[in-house]
Amino acid sequence: MLQTMTPLRLAQRMSRLGTETAFEVLVRARALEAKGKDIVHLEIGEPDFDTPSNVIEAGVKALKGGYTHYGPAAGLPQLRQTIADYIAKTRNVPVAPEEVVVVPGGKPIMFFVILALVEEGDEVIYPNPGFPIYESMINFVGAKPVPIQLKEEMDFRFDVAEFKKLITDRTKLVILNSPHNPTGGVLTEKDVRDIAAAIGDRDIMVLSDEIYSRLVFEGSHHSIMSLDGWKDRTILLDGFSKTYAMTGWRMGYGVMRPDLATAVSRLQTNSNSCTASFTQMAGVEALTGDQSSVDKMNAEFLRRRDRMVEGLNKIKGFSCRTPHGAFYVFPNITKTGWPSKKLADAILDEAGVACLSGNAFGKYGEGYLRLSVANSIENINKALERIDNWANKNL
Ligand code: PLP
Repeated sequence: MLQTMTPLRLAQRMSRLGTETAFEVLVRARALEAKGKDIVHLEIGEPDFDTPSNVIEAGVKALKGGYTHYGPAAGLPQLRQTIADYIAKTRNVPVAPEEVVVVPGGKPIMFFVILALVEEGDEVIYPNPGFPIYESMINFVGAKPVPIQLKEEMDFRFDVAEFKKLITDRTKLVILNSPHNPTGGVLTEKDVRDIAAAIGDRDIMVLSDEIYSRLVFEGSHHSIMSLDGWKDRTILLDGFSKTYAMTGWRMGYGVMRPDLATAVSRLQTNSNSCTASFTQMAGVEALTGDQSSVDKMNAEFLRRRDRMVEGLNKIKGFSCRTPHGAFYVFPNITKTGWPSKKLADAILDEAGVACLSGNAFGKYGEGYLRLSVANSIENINKALERIDNWANKNL
């Protein structure tokens, strides 16, 4: 007998939760593939490389060695110490293991930190276009999202004069992301100093999403945490997904003052309990072992970025700046005369190339597409040829 379900009465707060379109486009692209269509995947933000073999071996060894049980909510002491040492060295600040919380991916740090710090009615300034989960989480907790527009003419860095105007008495948190998804923008040392000066001594915390910190092609990575007096006002988010091609392992971390670390650990106790123990042992190897695979991957991303930018700039209606970091390009498509979403859909359906509409990253992403360079040169060439043919026929 067919059973009818009563209407689901979801909690009101669920209407405020956004999503990440990359996963939806991936599903649509897979559905087209199931019908026999050949698709080049440039939609998802993950390295196409395998996790380095030394890291896999460390994970397998840990599995066989009994790291199959619950561990402490904030992470295994070995990994917290390793991360503390790594951040101390790379960001030039003293870090204690008590200031490190290991979680399943970089994302949970956003989720937990925003839940732990931001109240209804507070304001949060965040980059737009930007990683969609920032805006989603700000709305979810009932706070006011205050976007700072990242402009192409500034290579998608912060316009500090505009940023200053957005700070109010209700500003509780500022989110930075450098290198930046989706634009590849990278904050300079001066940018970081100017942002810190603009905030001044107001009681505002900064969530600094540095998940692409090792993927800087021009200049170098600068963290606000490294500035004098900023250690305790910064929550640094970093992880393993992008640097070590470990997206599916689900492991990331936050570095923050110890009292906030305790609150974030409590959220972890209430949700995941802990990050999988054997993956954490692989994390120790990732950070302390041979780094040559990271260098190799980064050199390859650079080669692909250059090819992609060169190719896109030859396509009718497209113009693309060279991103300074991360593994995305963000071409301006306003001269095609097409809105971003319609163009991304047509390129998927008619040209067989999956990419993302710029406005999947917020309202200021309109007029752009995001294409990932986490695919082989052969596939990038194939995608460029397909988009070019499509543009010549349709624009
Ligand atoms: N932060 C940014 C800017 C990202 O682009 C991503 C992933 O796409 C994350 C955080 C989340 O990374 P993870 O897969 O480790 O949760």
